[in-house]
Amino acid sequence: MYAVRRWVVRHSRGFEFIYNVFEPVIACLDPVWRGIGYARVEKPVTAVERAVKGFLFDCKMCGQCALSSTGMSCPMNCPKNLRNGPCGGVRANGHCEVKPEMKCVWAEAWAGSQHMKNGRKIHVVQKPVDFRLRDTSSWLRVVRQIAAKRMAAQGEQK
Ligand code: SF4
Repeated sequence: MYAVRRWVVRHSRGFEFIYNVFEPVIACLDPVWRGIGYARVEKPVTAVERAVKGFLFDCKMCGQCALSSTGMSCPMNCPKNLRNGPCGGVRANGHCEVKPEMKCVWAEAWAGSQHMKNGRKIHVVQKPVDFRLRDTSSWLRVVRQIAAKRMAAQGEQK
């Protein structure tokens, strides 16, 4: 919902804090997810993620979440799906050239990043969207990445 996602951006610092608490908690559950099987938990976790992030961010379930680098403004709400800043068509009032009733998601992203502790992450260049990952859980992907890094680090220590 547009009003909600704009409210979220205004409170991006709080949402950054919540995510920083949430991420290690779901990452700790890796043995549980593995025990059940990632393939089995994918569907229910995706459903929860879709409901929560859909309400808060108008998430489009791209499966490769960039919110922590985009001021909590989902870049997939850009009609051109731009992941690295605005196009040249932003209107003088900061609104989108395709959807004039909507504030440019990148103008929002910049504003949101200014409130965040780690807001400089907006300068990190995002990879192009991999549409094969659409409708999959970004949360579980992050958990698997963290687990893989942890295992690699443990392997190096041996
Ligand atoms: S970046 Fe992707 S996963 Fe994150 S809120 Fe936007 S569509 Fe959803």
